[in-house]
Amino acid sequence: MQTSNSSKAFKEAKKVIPGGVNSPVRAFKSVGCDPLFIQRAKGSHIWDIDDNEYIDFVSSWGPMILGHAHDDVLRAINRAAEKGTSYGAPTLIETEMAQQIVSMVPSIEKVRMVNSGTEATMSAIRLARGFTGREKIIKFAGCYHGHGDSFLIKAGSGAITLGLPDSPGVTKYTAKDTLTANYNDLDSVEELFKQQKGQIAAVIVEPVAGNMGVIPPNKNFLKGLRGITKQEGALLIFDEVITGFRLSQGGAQQYFNVMPDITTLGKIIGGGLPVGAYGGRAEIMDLLAPNGPVYQAGTLSGNPLAMSAGLTMLKILNQSTAIYDELEAMAAKVEAGLKSNAADLNIPLVINRVGSMITAFFTSVEKVSSFDEAMTSDAKRYAKVFKASLKNGIYMAPSQFECLFISYAHTTDDIEQLISANRLALEGLK
Ligand SMILES: *Cc1c(COP(=O)(O)O)cnc(C)c1O
Repeated sequence: MQTSNSSKAFKEAKKVIPGGVNSPVRAFKSVGCDPLFIQRAKGSHIWDIDDNEYIDFVSSWGPMILGHAHDDVLRAINRAAEKGTSYGAPTLIETEMAQQIVSMVPSIEKVRMVNSGTEATMSAIRLARGFTGREKIIKFAGCYHGHGDSFLIKAGSGAITLGLPDSPGVTKYTAKDTLTANYNDLDSVEELFKQQKGQIAAVIVEPVAGNMGVIPPNKNFLKGLRGITKQEGALLIFDEVITGFRLSQGGAQQYFNVMPDITTLGKIIGGGLPVGAYGGRAEIMDLLAPNGPVYQAGTLSGNPLAMSAGLTMLKILNQSTAIYDELEAMAAKVEAGLKSNAADLNIPLVINRVGSMITAFFTSVEKVSSFDEAMTSDAKRYAKVFKASLKNGIYMAPSQFECLFISYAHTTDDIEQLISANRLALEGLK
């Protein structure tokens, strides 16, 4: 496989872009090779600038649940673009988008659009603080909620991939208002509420952790968080930036039947364009300006191109639960295939999967249900498998601590190629 054009492009990019990339995990740093520069993508396939073709399991880190360059989404974007790309004034499609979200996500009565998942979570905690009059928040080690200052404390995703869970530039005053509990450990949450009685505005959680690799919530974890927050007068925020519209039409809250006070959304909601949103009970959302005193704004929020792409995507997903059944069936095949590869070759591997989110952890612990257990993984082994898979035409996340995403565009053939490439890659570890 020839990737010299990508390597050359990376060298040029590094001269004018910090690290050569606009988001850190893209740099392939933890897998020890140069990143691929992409020229185009269609359906489940993606092409680099050396004209290599891959089956894509990154899916732009989640958004492309229907595959790349979906015809209906493209048509919607083109039609919108011809009428102008931004007005800074209300449009009908914003209300339509809000109605669509309210009809799909069970706990959302009102919703505000922003431009990224990061903006959604930053705004959600400001709102929670405004609503409760309290200052502290609880997050979980290894969960990632975007790059807002308050969340770069034991953060997941690129931050753990690069070994930077806490970032310089976050003031100690900001850091002290973020308390960290352990995922799937309700006692650690109760302990913090006991220590900081009456001071905690909200608990924010990924209902399925996806940024330290996939970690499903234990049976009573989400219900337990609902119970504790209710009792303590704090809000529960589900960060559904990955799980929203991926685990079901109504996201993780519908999948597990636990309702948060505020939900943050991103990724899929933009249909591949930059969009985020946060929503919840009307009495909470109505505290936002211009209705209430909590300020939050955005010049390009509710942008007509982004709304057209996102709304088209959501409408397709809302047509039938058959899409989710199909995703589940394909993902189950992947899980079974990877498991049997590892068993045949006697390679210790823990596979976590919820719906179409999958991570294979290279670890010999029995299960991975916490950040500490995820950290036992051998990231070097992952890097080897990543590189070998790439050579066999499989594009996966360049990090052990991310998800493999199955999209509706993946075919049975794509899945079989993934499993056989994985087998070759595992054989190479011997
Ligand atoms: C990706 C992600 C974010 C941040 O979204 P951006 O659009 O990258 O700012 C927040 N929370 C979770 C759970 C995510 O996976």
